[in-house]
Amino acid sequence: MPTIAERLAPWFASRARELPFRKDRTPYRVWVSEVMLQQTRVATVTEYFPRFVARFPDVAALAAAPAGDVLAAWSGLGYYRRARALHEGARFVVRELGGELPASPDALRRIPGVGPYTAGAIASVAFGVRAPLVDGNVARVLCRLHALDVDPASGAGKRELWARADALVPARAPGAFNEALMELGATVCTPTSPRCDECPLGAECLARRRGLELELPRVAPRRAPKRVFASAIVVRQRGMVLLGRRRADALFGGMWEPPTVEAGDADAALELSSRLVSRPRARFAVTHVLTHRTMHVSVVSGGPRAGASYPDVYEEVRFVREAELSRYGISALAKKVLGGTG
Ligand code: SF4
Repeated sequence: MPTIAERLAPWFASRARELPFRKDRTPYRVWVSEVMLQQTRVATVTEYFPRFVARFPDVAALAAAPAGDVLAAWSGLGYYRRARALHEGARFVVRELGGELPASPDALRRIPGVGPYTAGAIASVAFGVRAPLVDGNVARVLCRLHALDVDPASGAGKRELWARADALVPARAPGAFNEALMELGATVCTPTSPRCDECPLGAECLARRRGLELELPRVAPRRAPKRVFASAIVVRQRGMVLLGRRRADALFGGMWEPPTVEAGDADAALELSSRLVSRPRARFAVTHVLTHRTMHVSVVSGGPRAGASYPDVYEEVRFVREAELSRYGISALAKKVLGGTG
């Protein structure tokens, strides 16, 4: 009977999507793309990846860049901690490893910000080392394939899934196998509508045989995202706009945004922000959904106010040229706030 790897290989060879980050697979490019792909849709990465590697073509270029430039290139991708970790990792590789990424998963994991998934991806895809990996797609496929009644987010679930992945990954073309498993999860064994009739693993799949494909994996119910009320001020003058840079240790650390205050409710936030500008004018509200928080932001415009006391989450607050905004790391939420006020 063919192995799982033997069933997947021809399917992947004929069905793999052509994606920009699947070309020219240097260890560095695999690293960047895998970091981007965590928590970001493939379509978005397809847009950002070529720009990012054109700007920072190798580890040395990334390590040498100022942190602000890296965040600017990451603007709009979200989860900015990833960009800071990637940058820190590149500096470590240049400083400690002579600028070369190592091939073994254990050595890769010593790089700041490189976890087991990224290490498995770089080792297997770029170096052809037999190493497993488990991401959300792989976890779903494995839970169904083996009818595993575990929560993939729990410690026990993770241990089980990594052991299963390790048992399946072949010595020959391990990177293609790992990618095939991820691709299967992304395109066929999808969360709510798996297409079992088209699946190359259909004959082996225990969940399918038992009619459990929609019940697995068993996921613990998510906590509802926290509601956060805030108000942002937009102050423009002579082609410039007032922005604050968030402290490195804060959420969205290092990113620039119109100064924003948080409060217990929308009215209190509006009141606080109105004190930061002269002639405040409430403009519109924006709702922005993050994984653990839903931000309700009311936007106030006005003139600059001398002596305004901005929240201490900002390292600095100053006017920047609007024409040069692309040089700053600006979140998608900040873009919404700025975009709606002319
Ligand atoms: S047969 Fe269905 S449930 Fe099983 S791995 Fe394939 S798509 Fe997923």
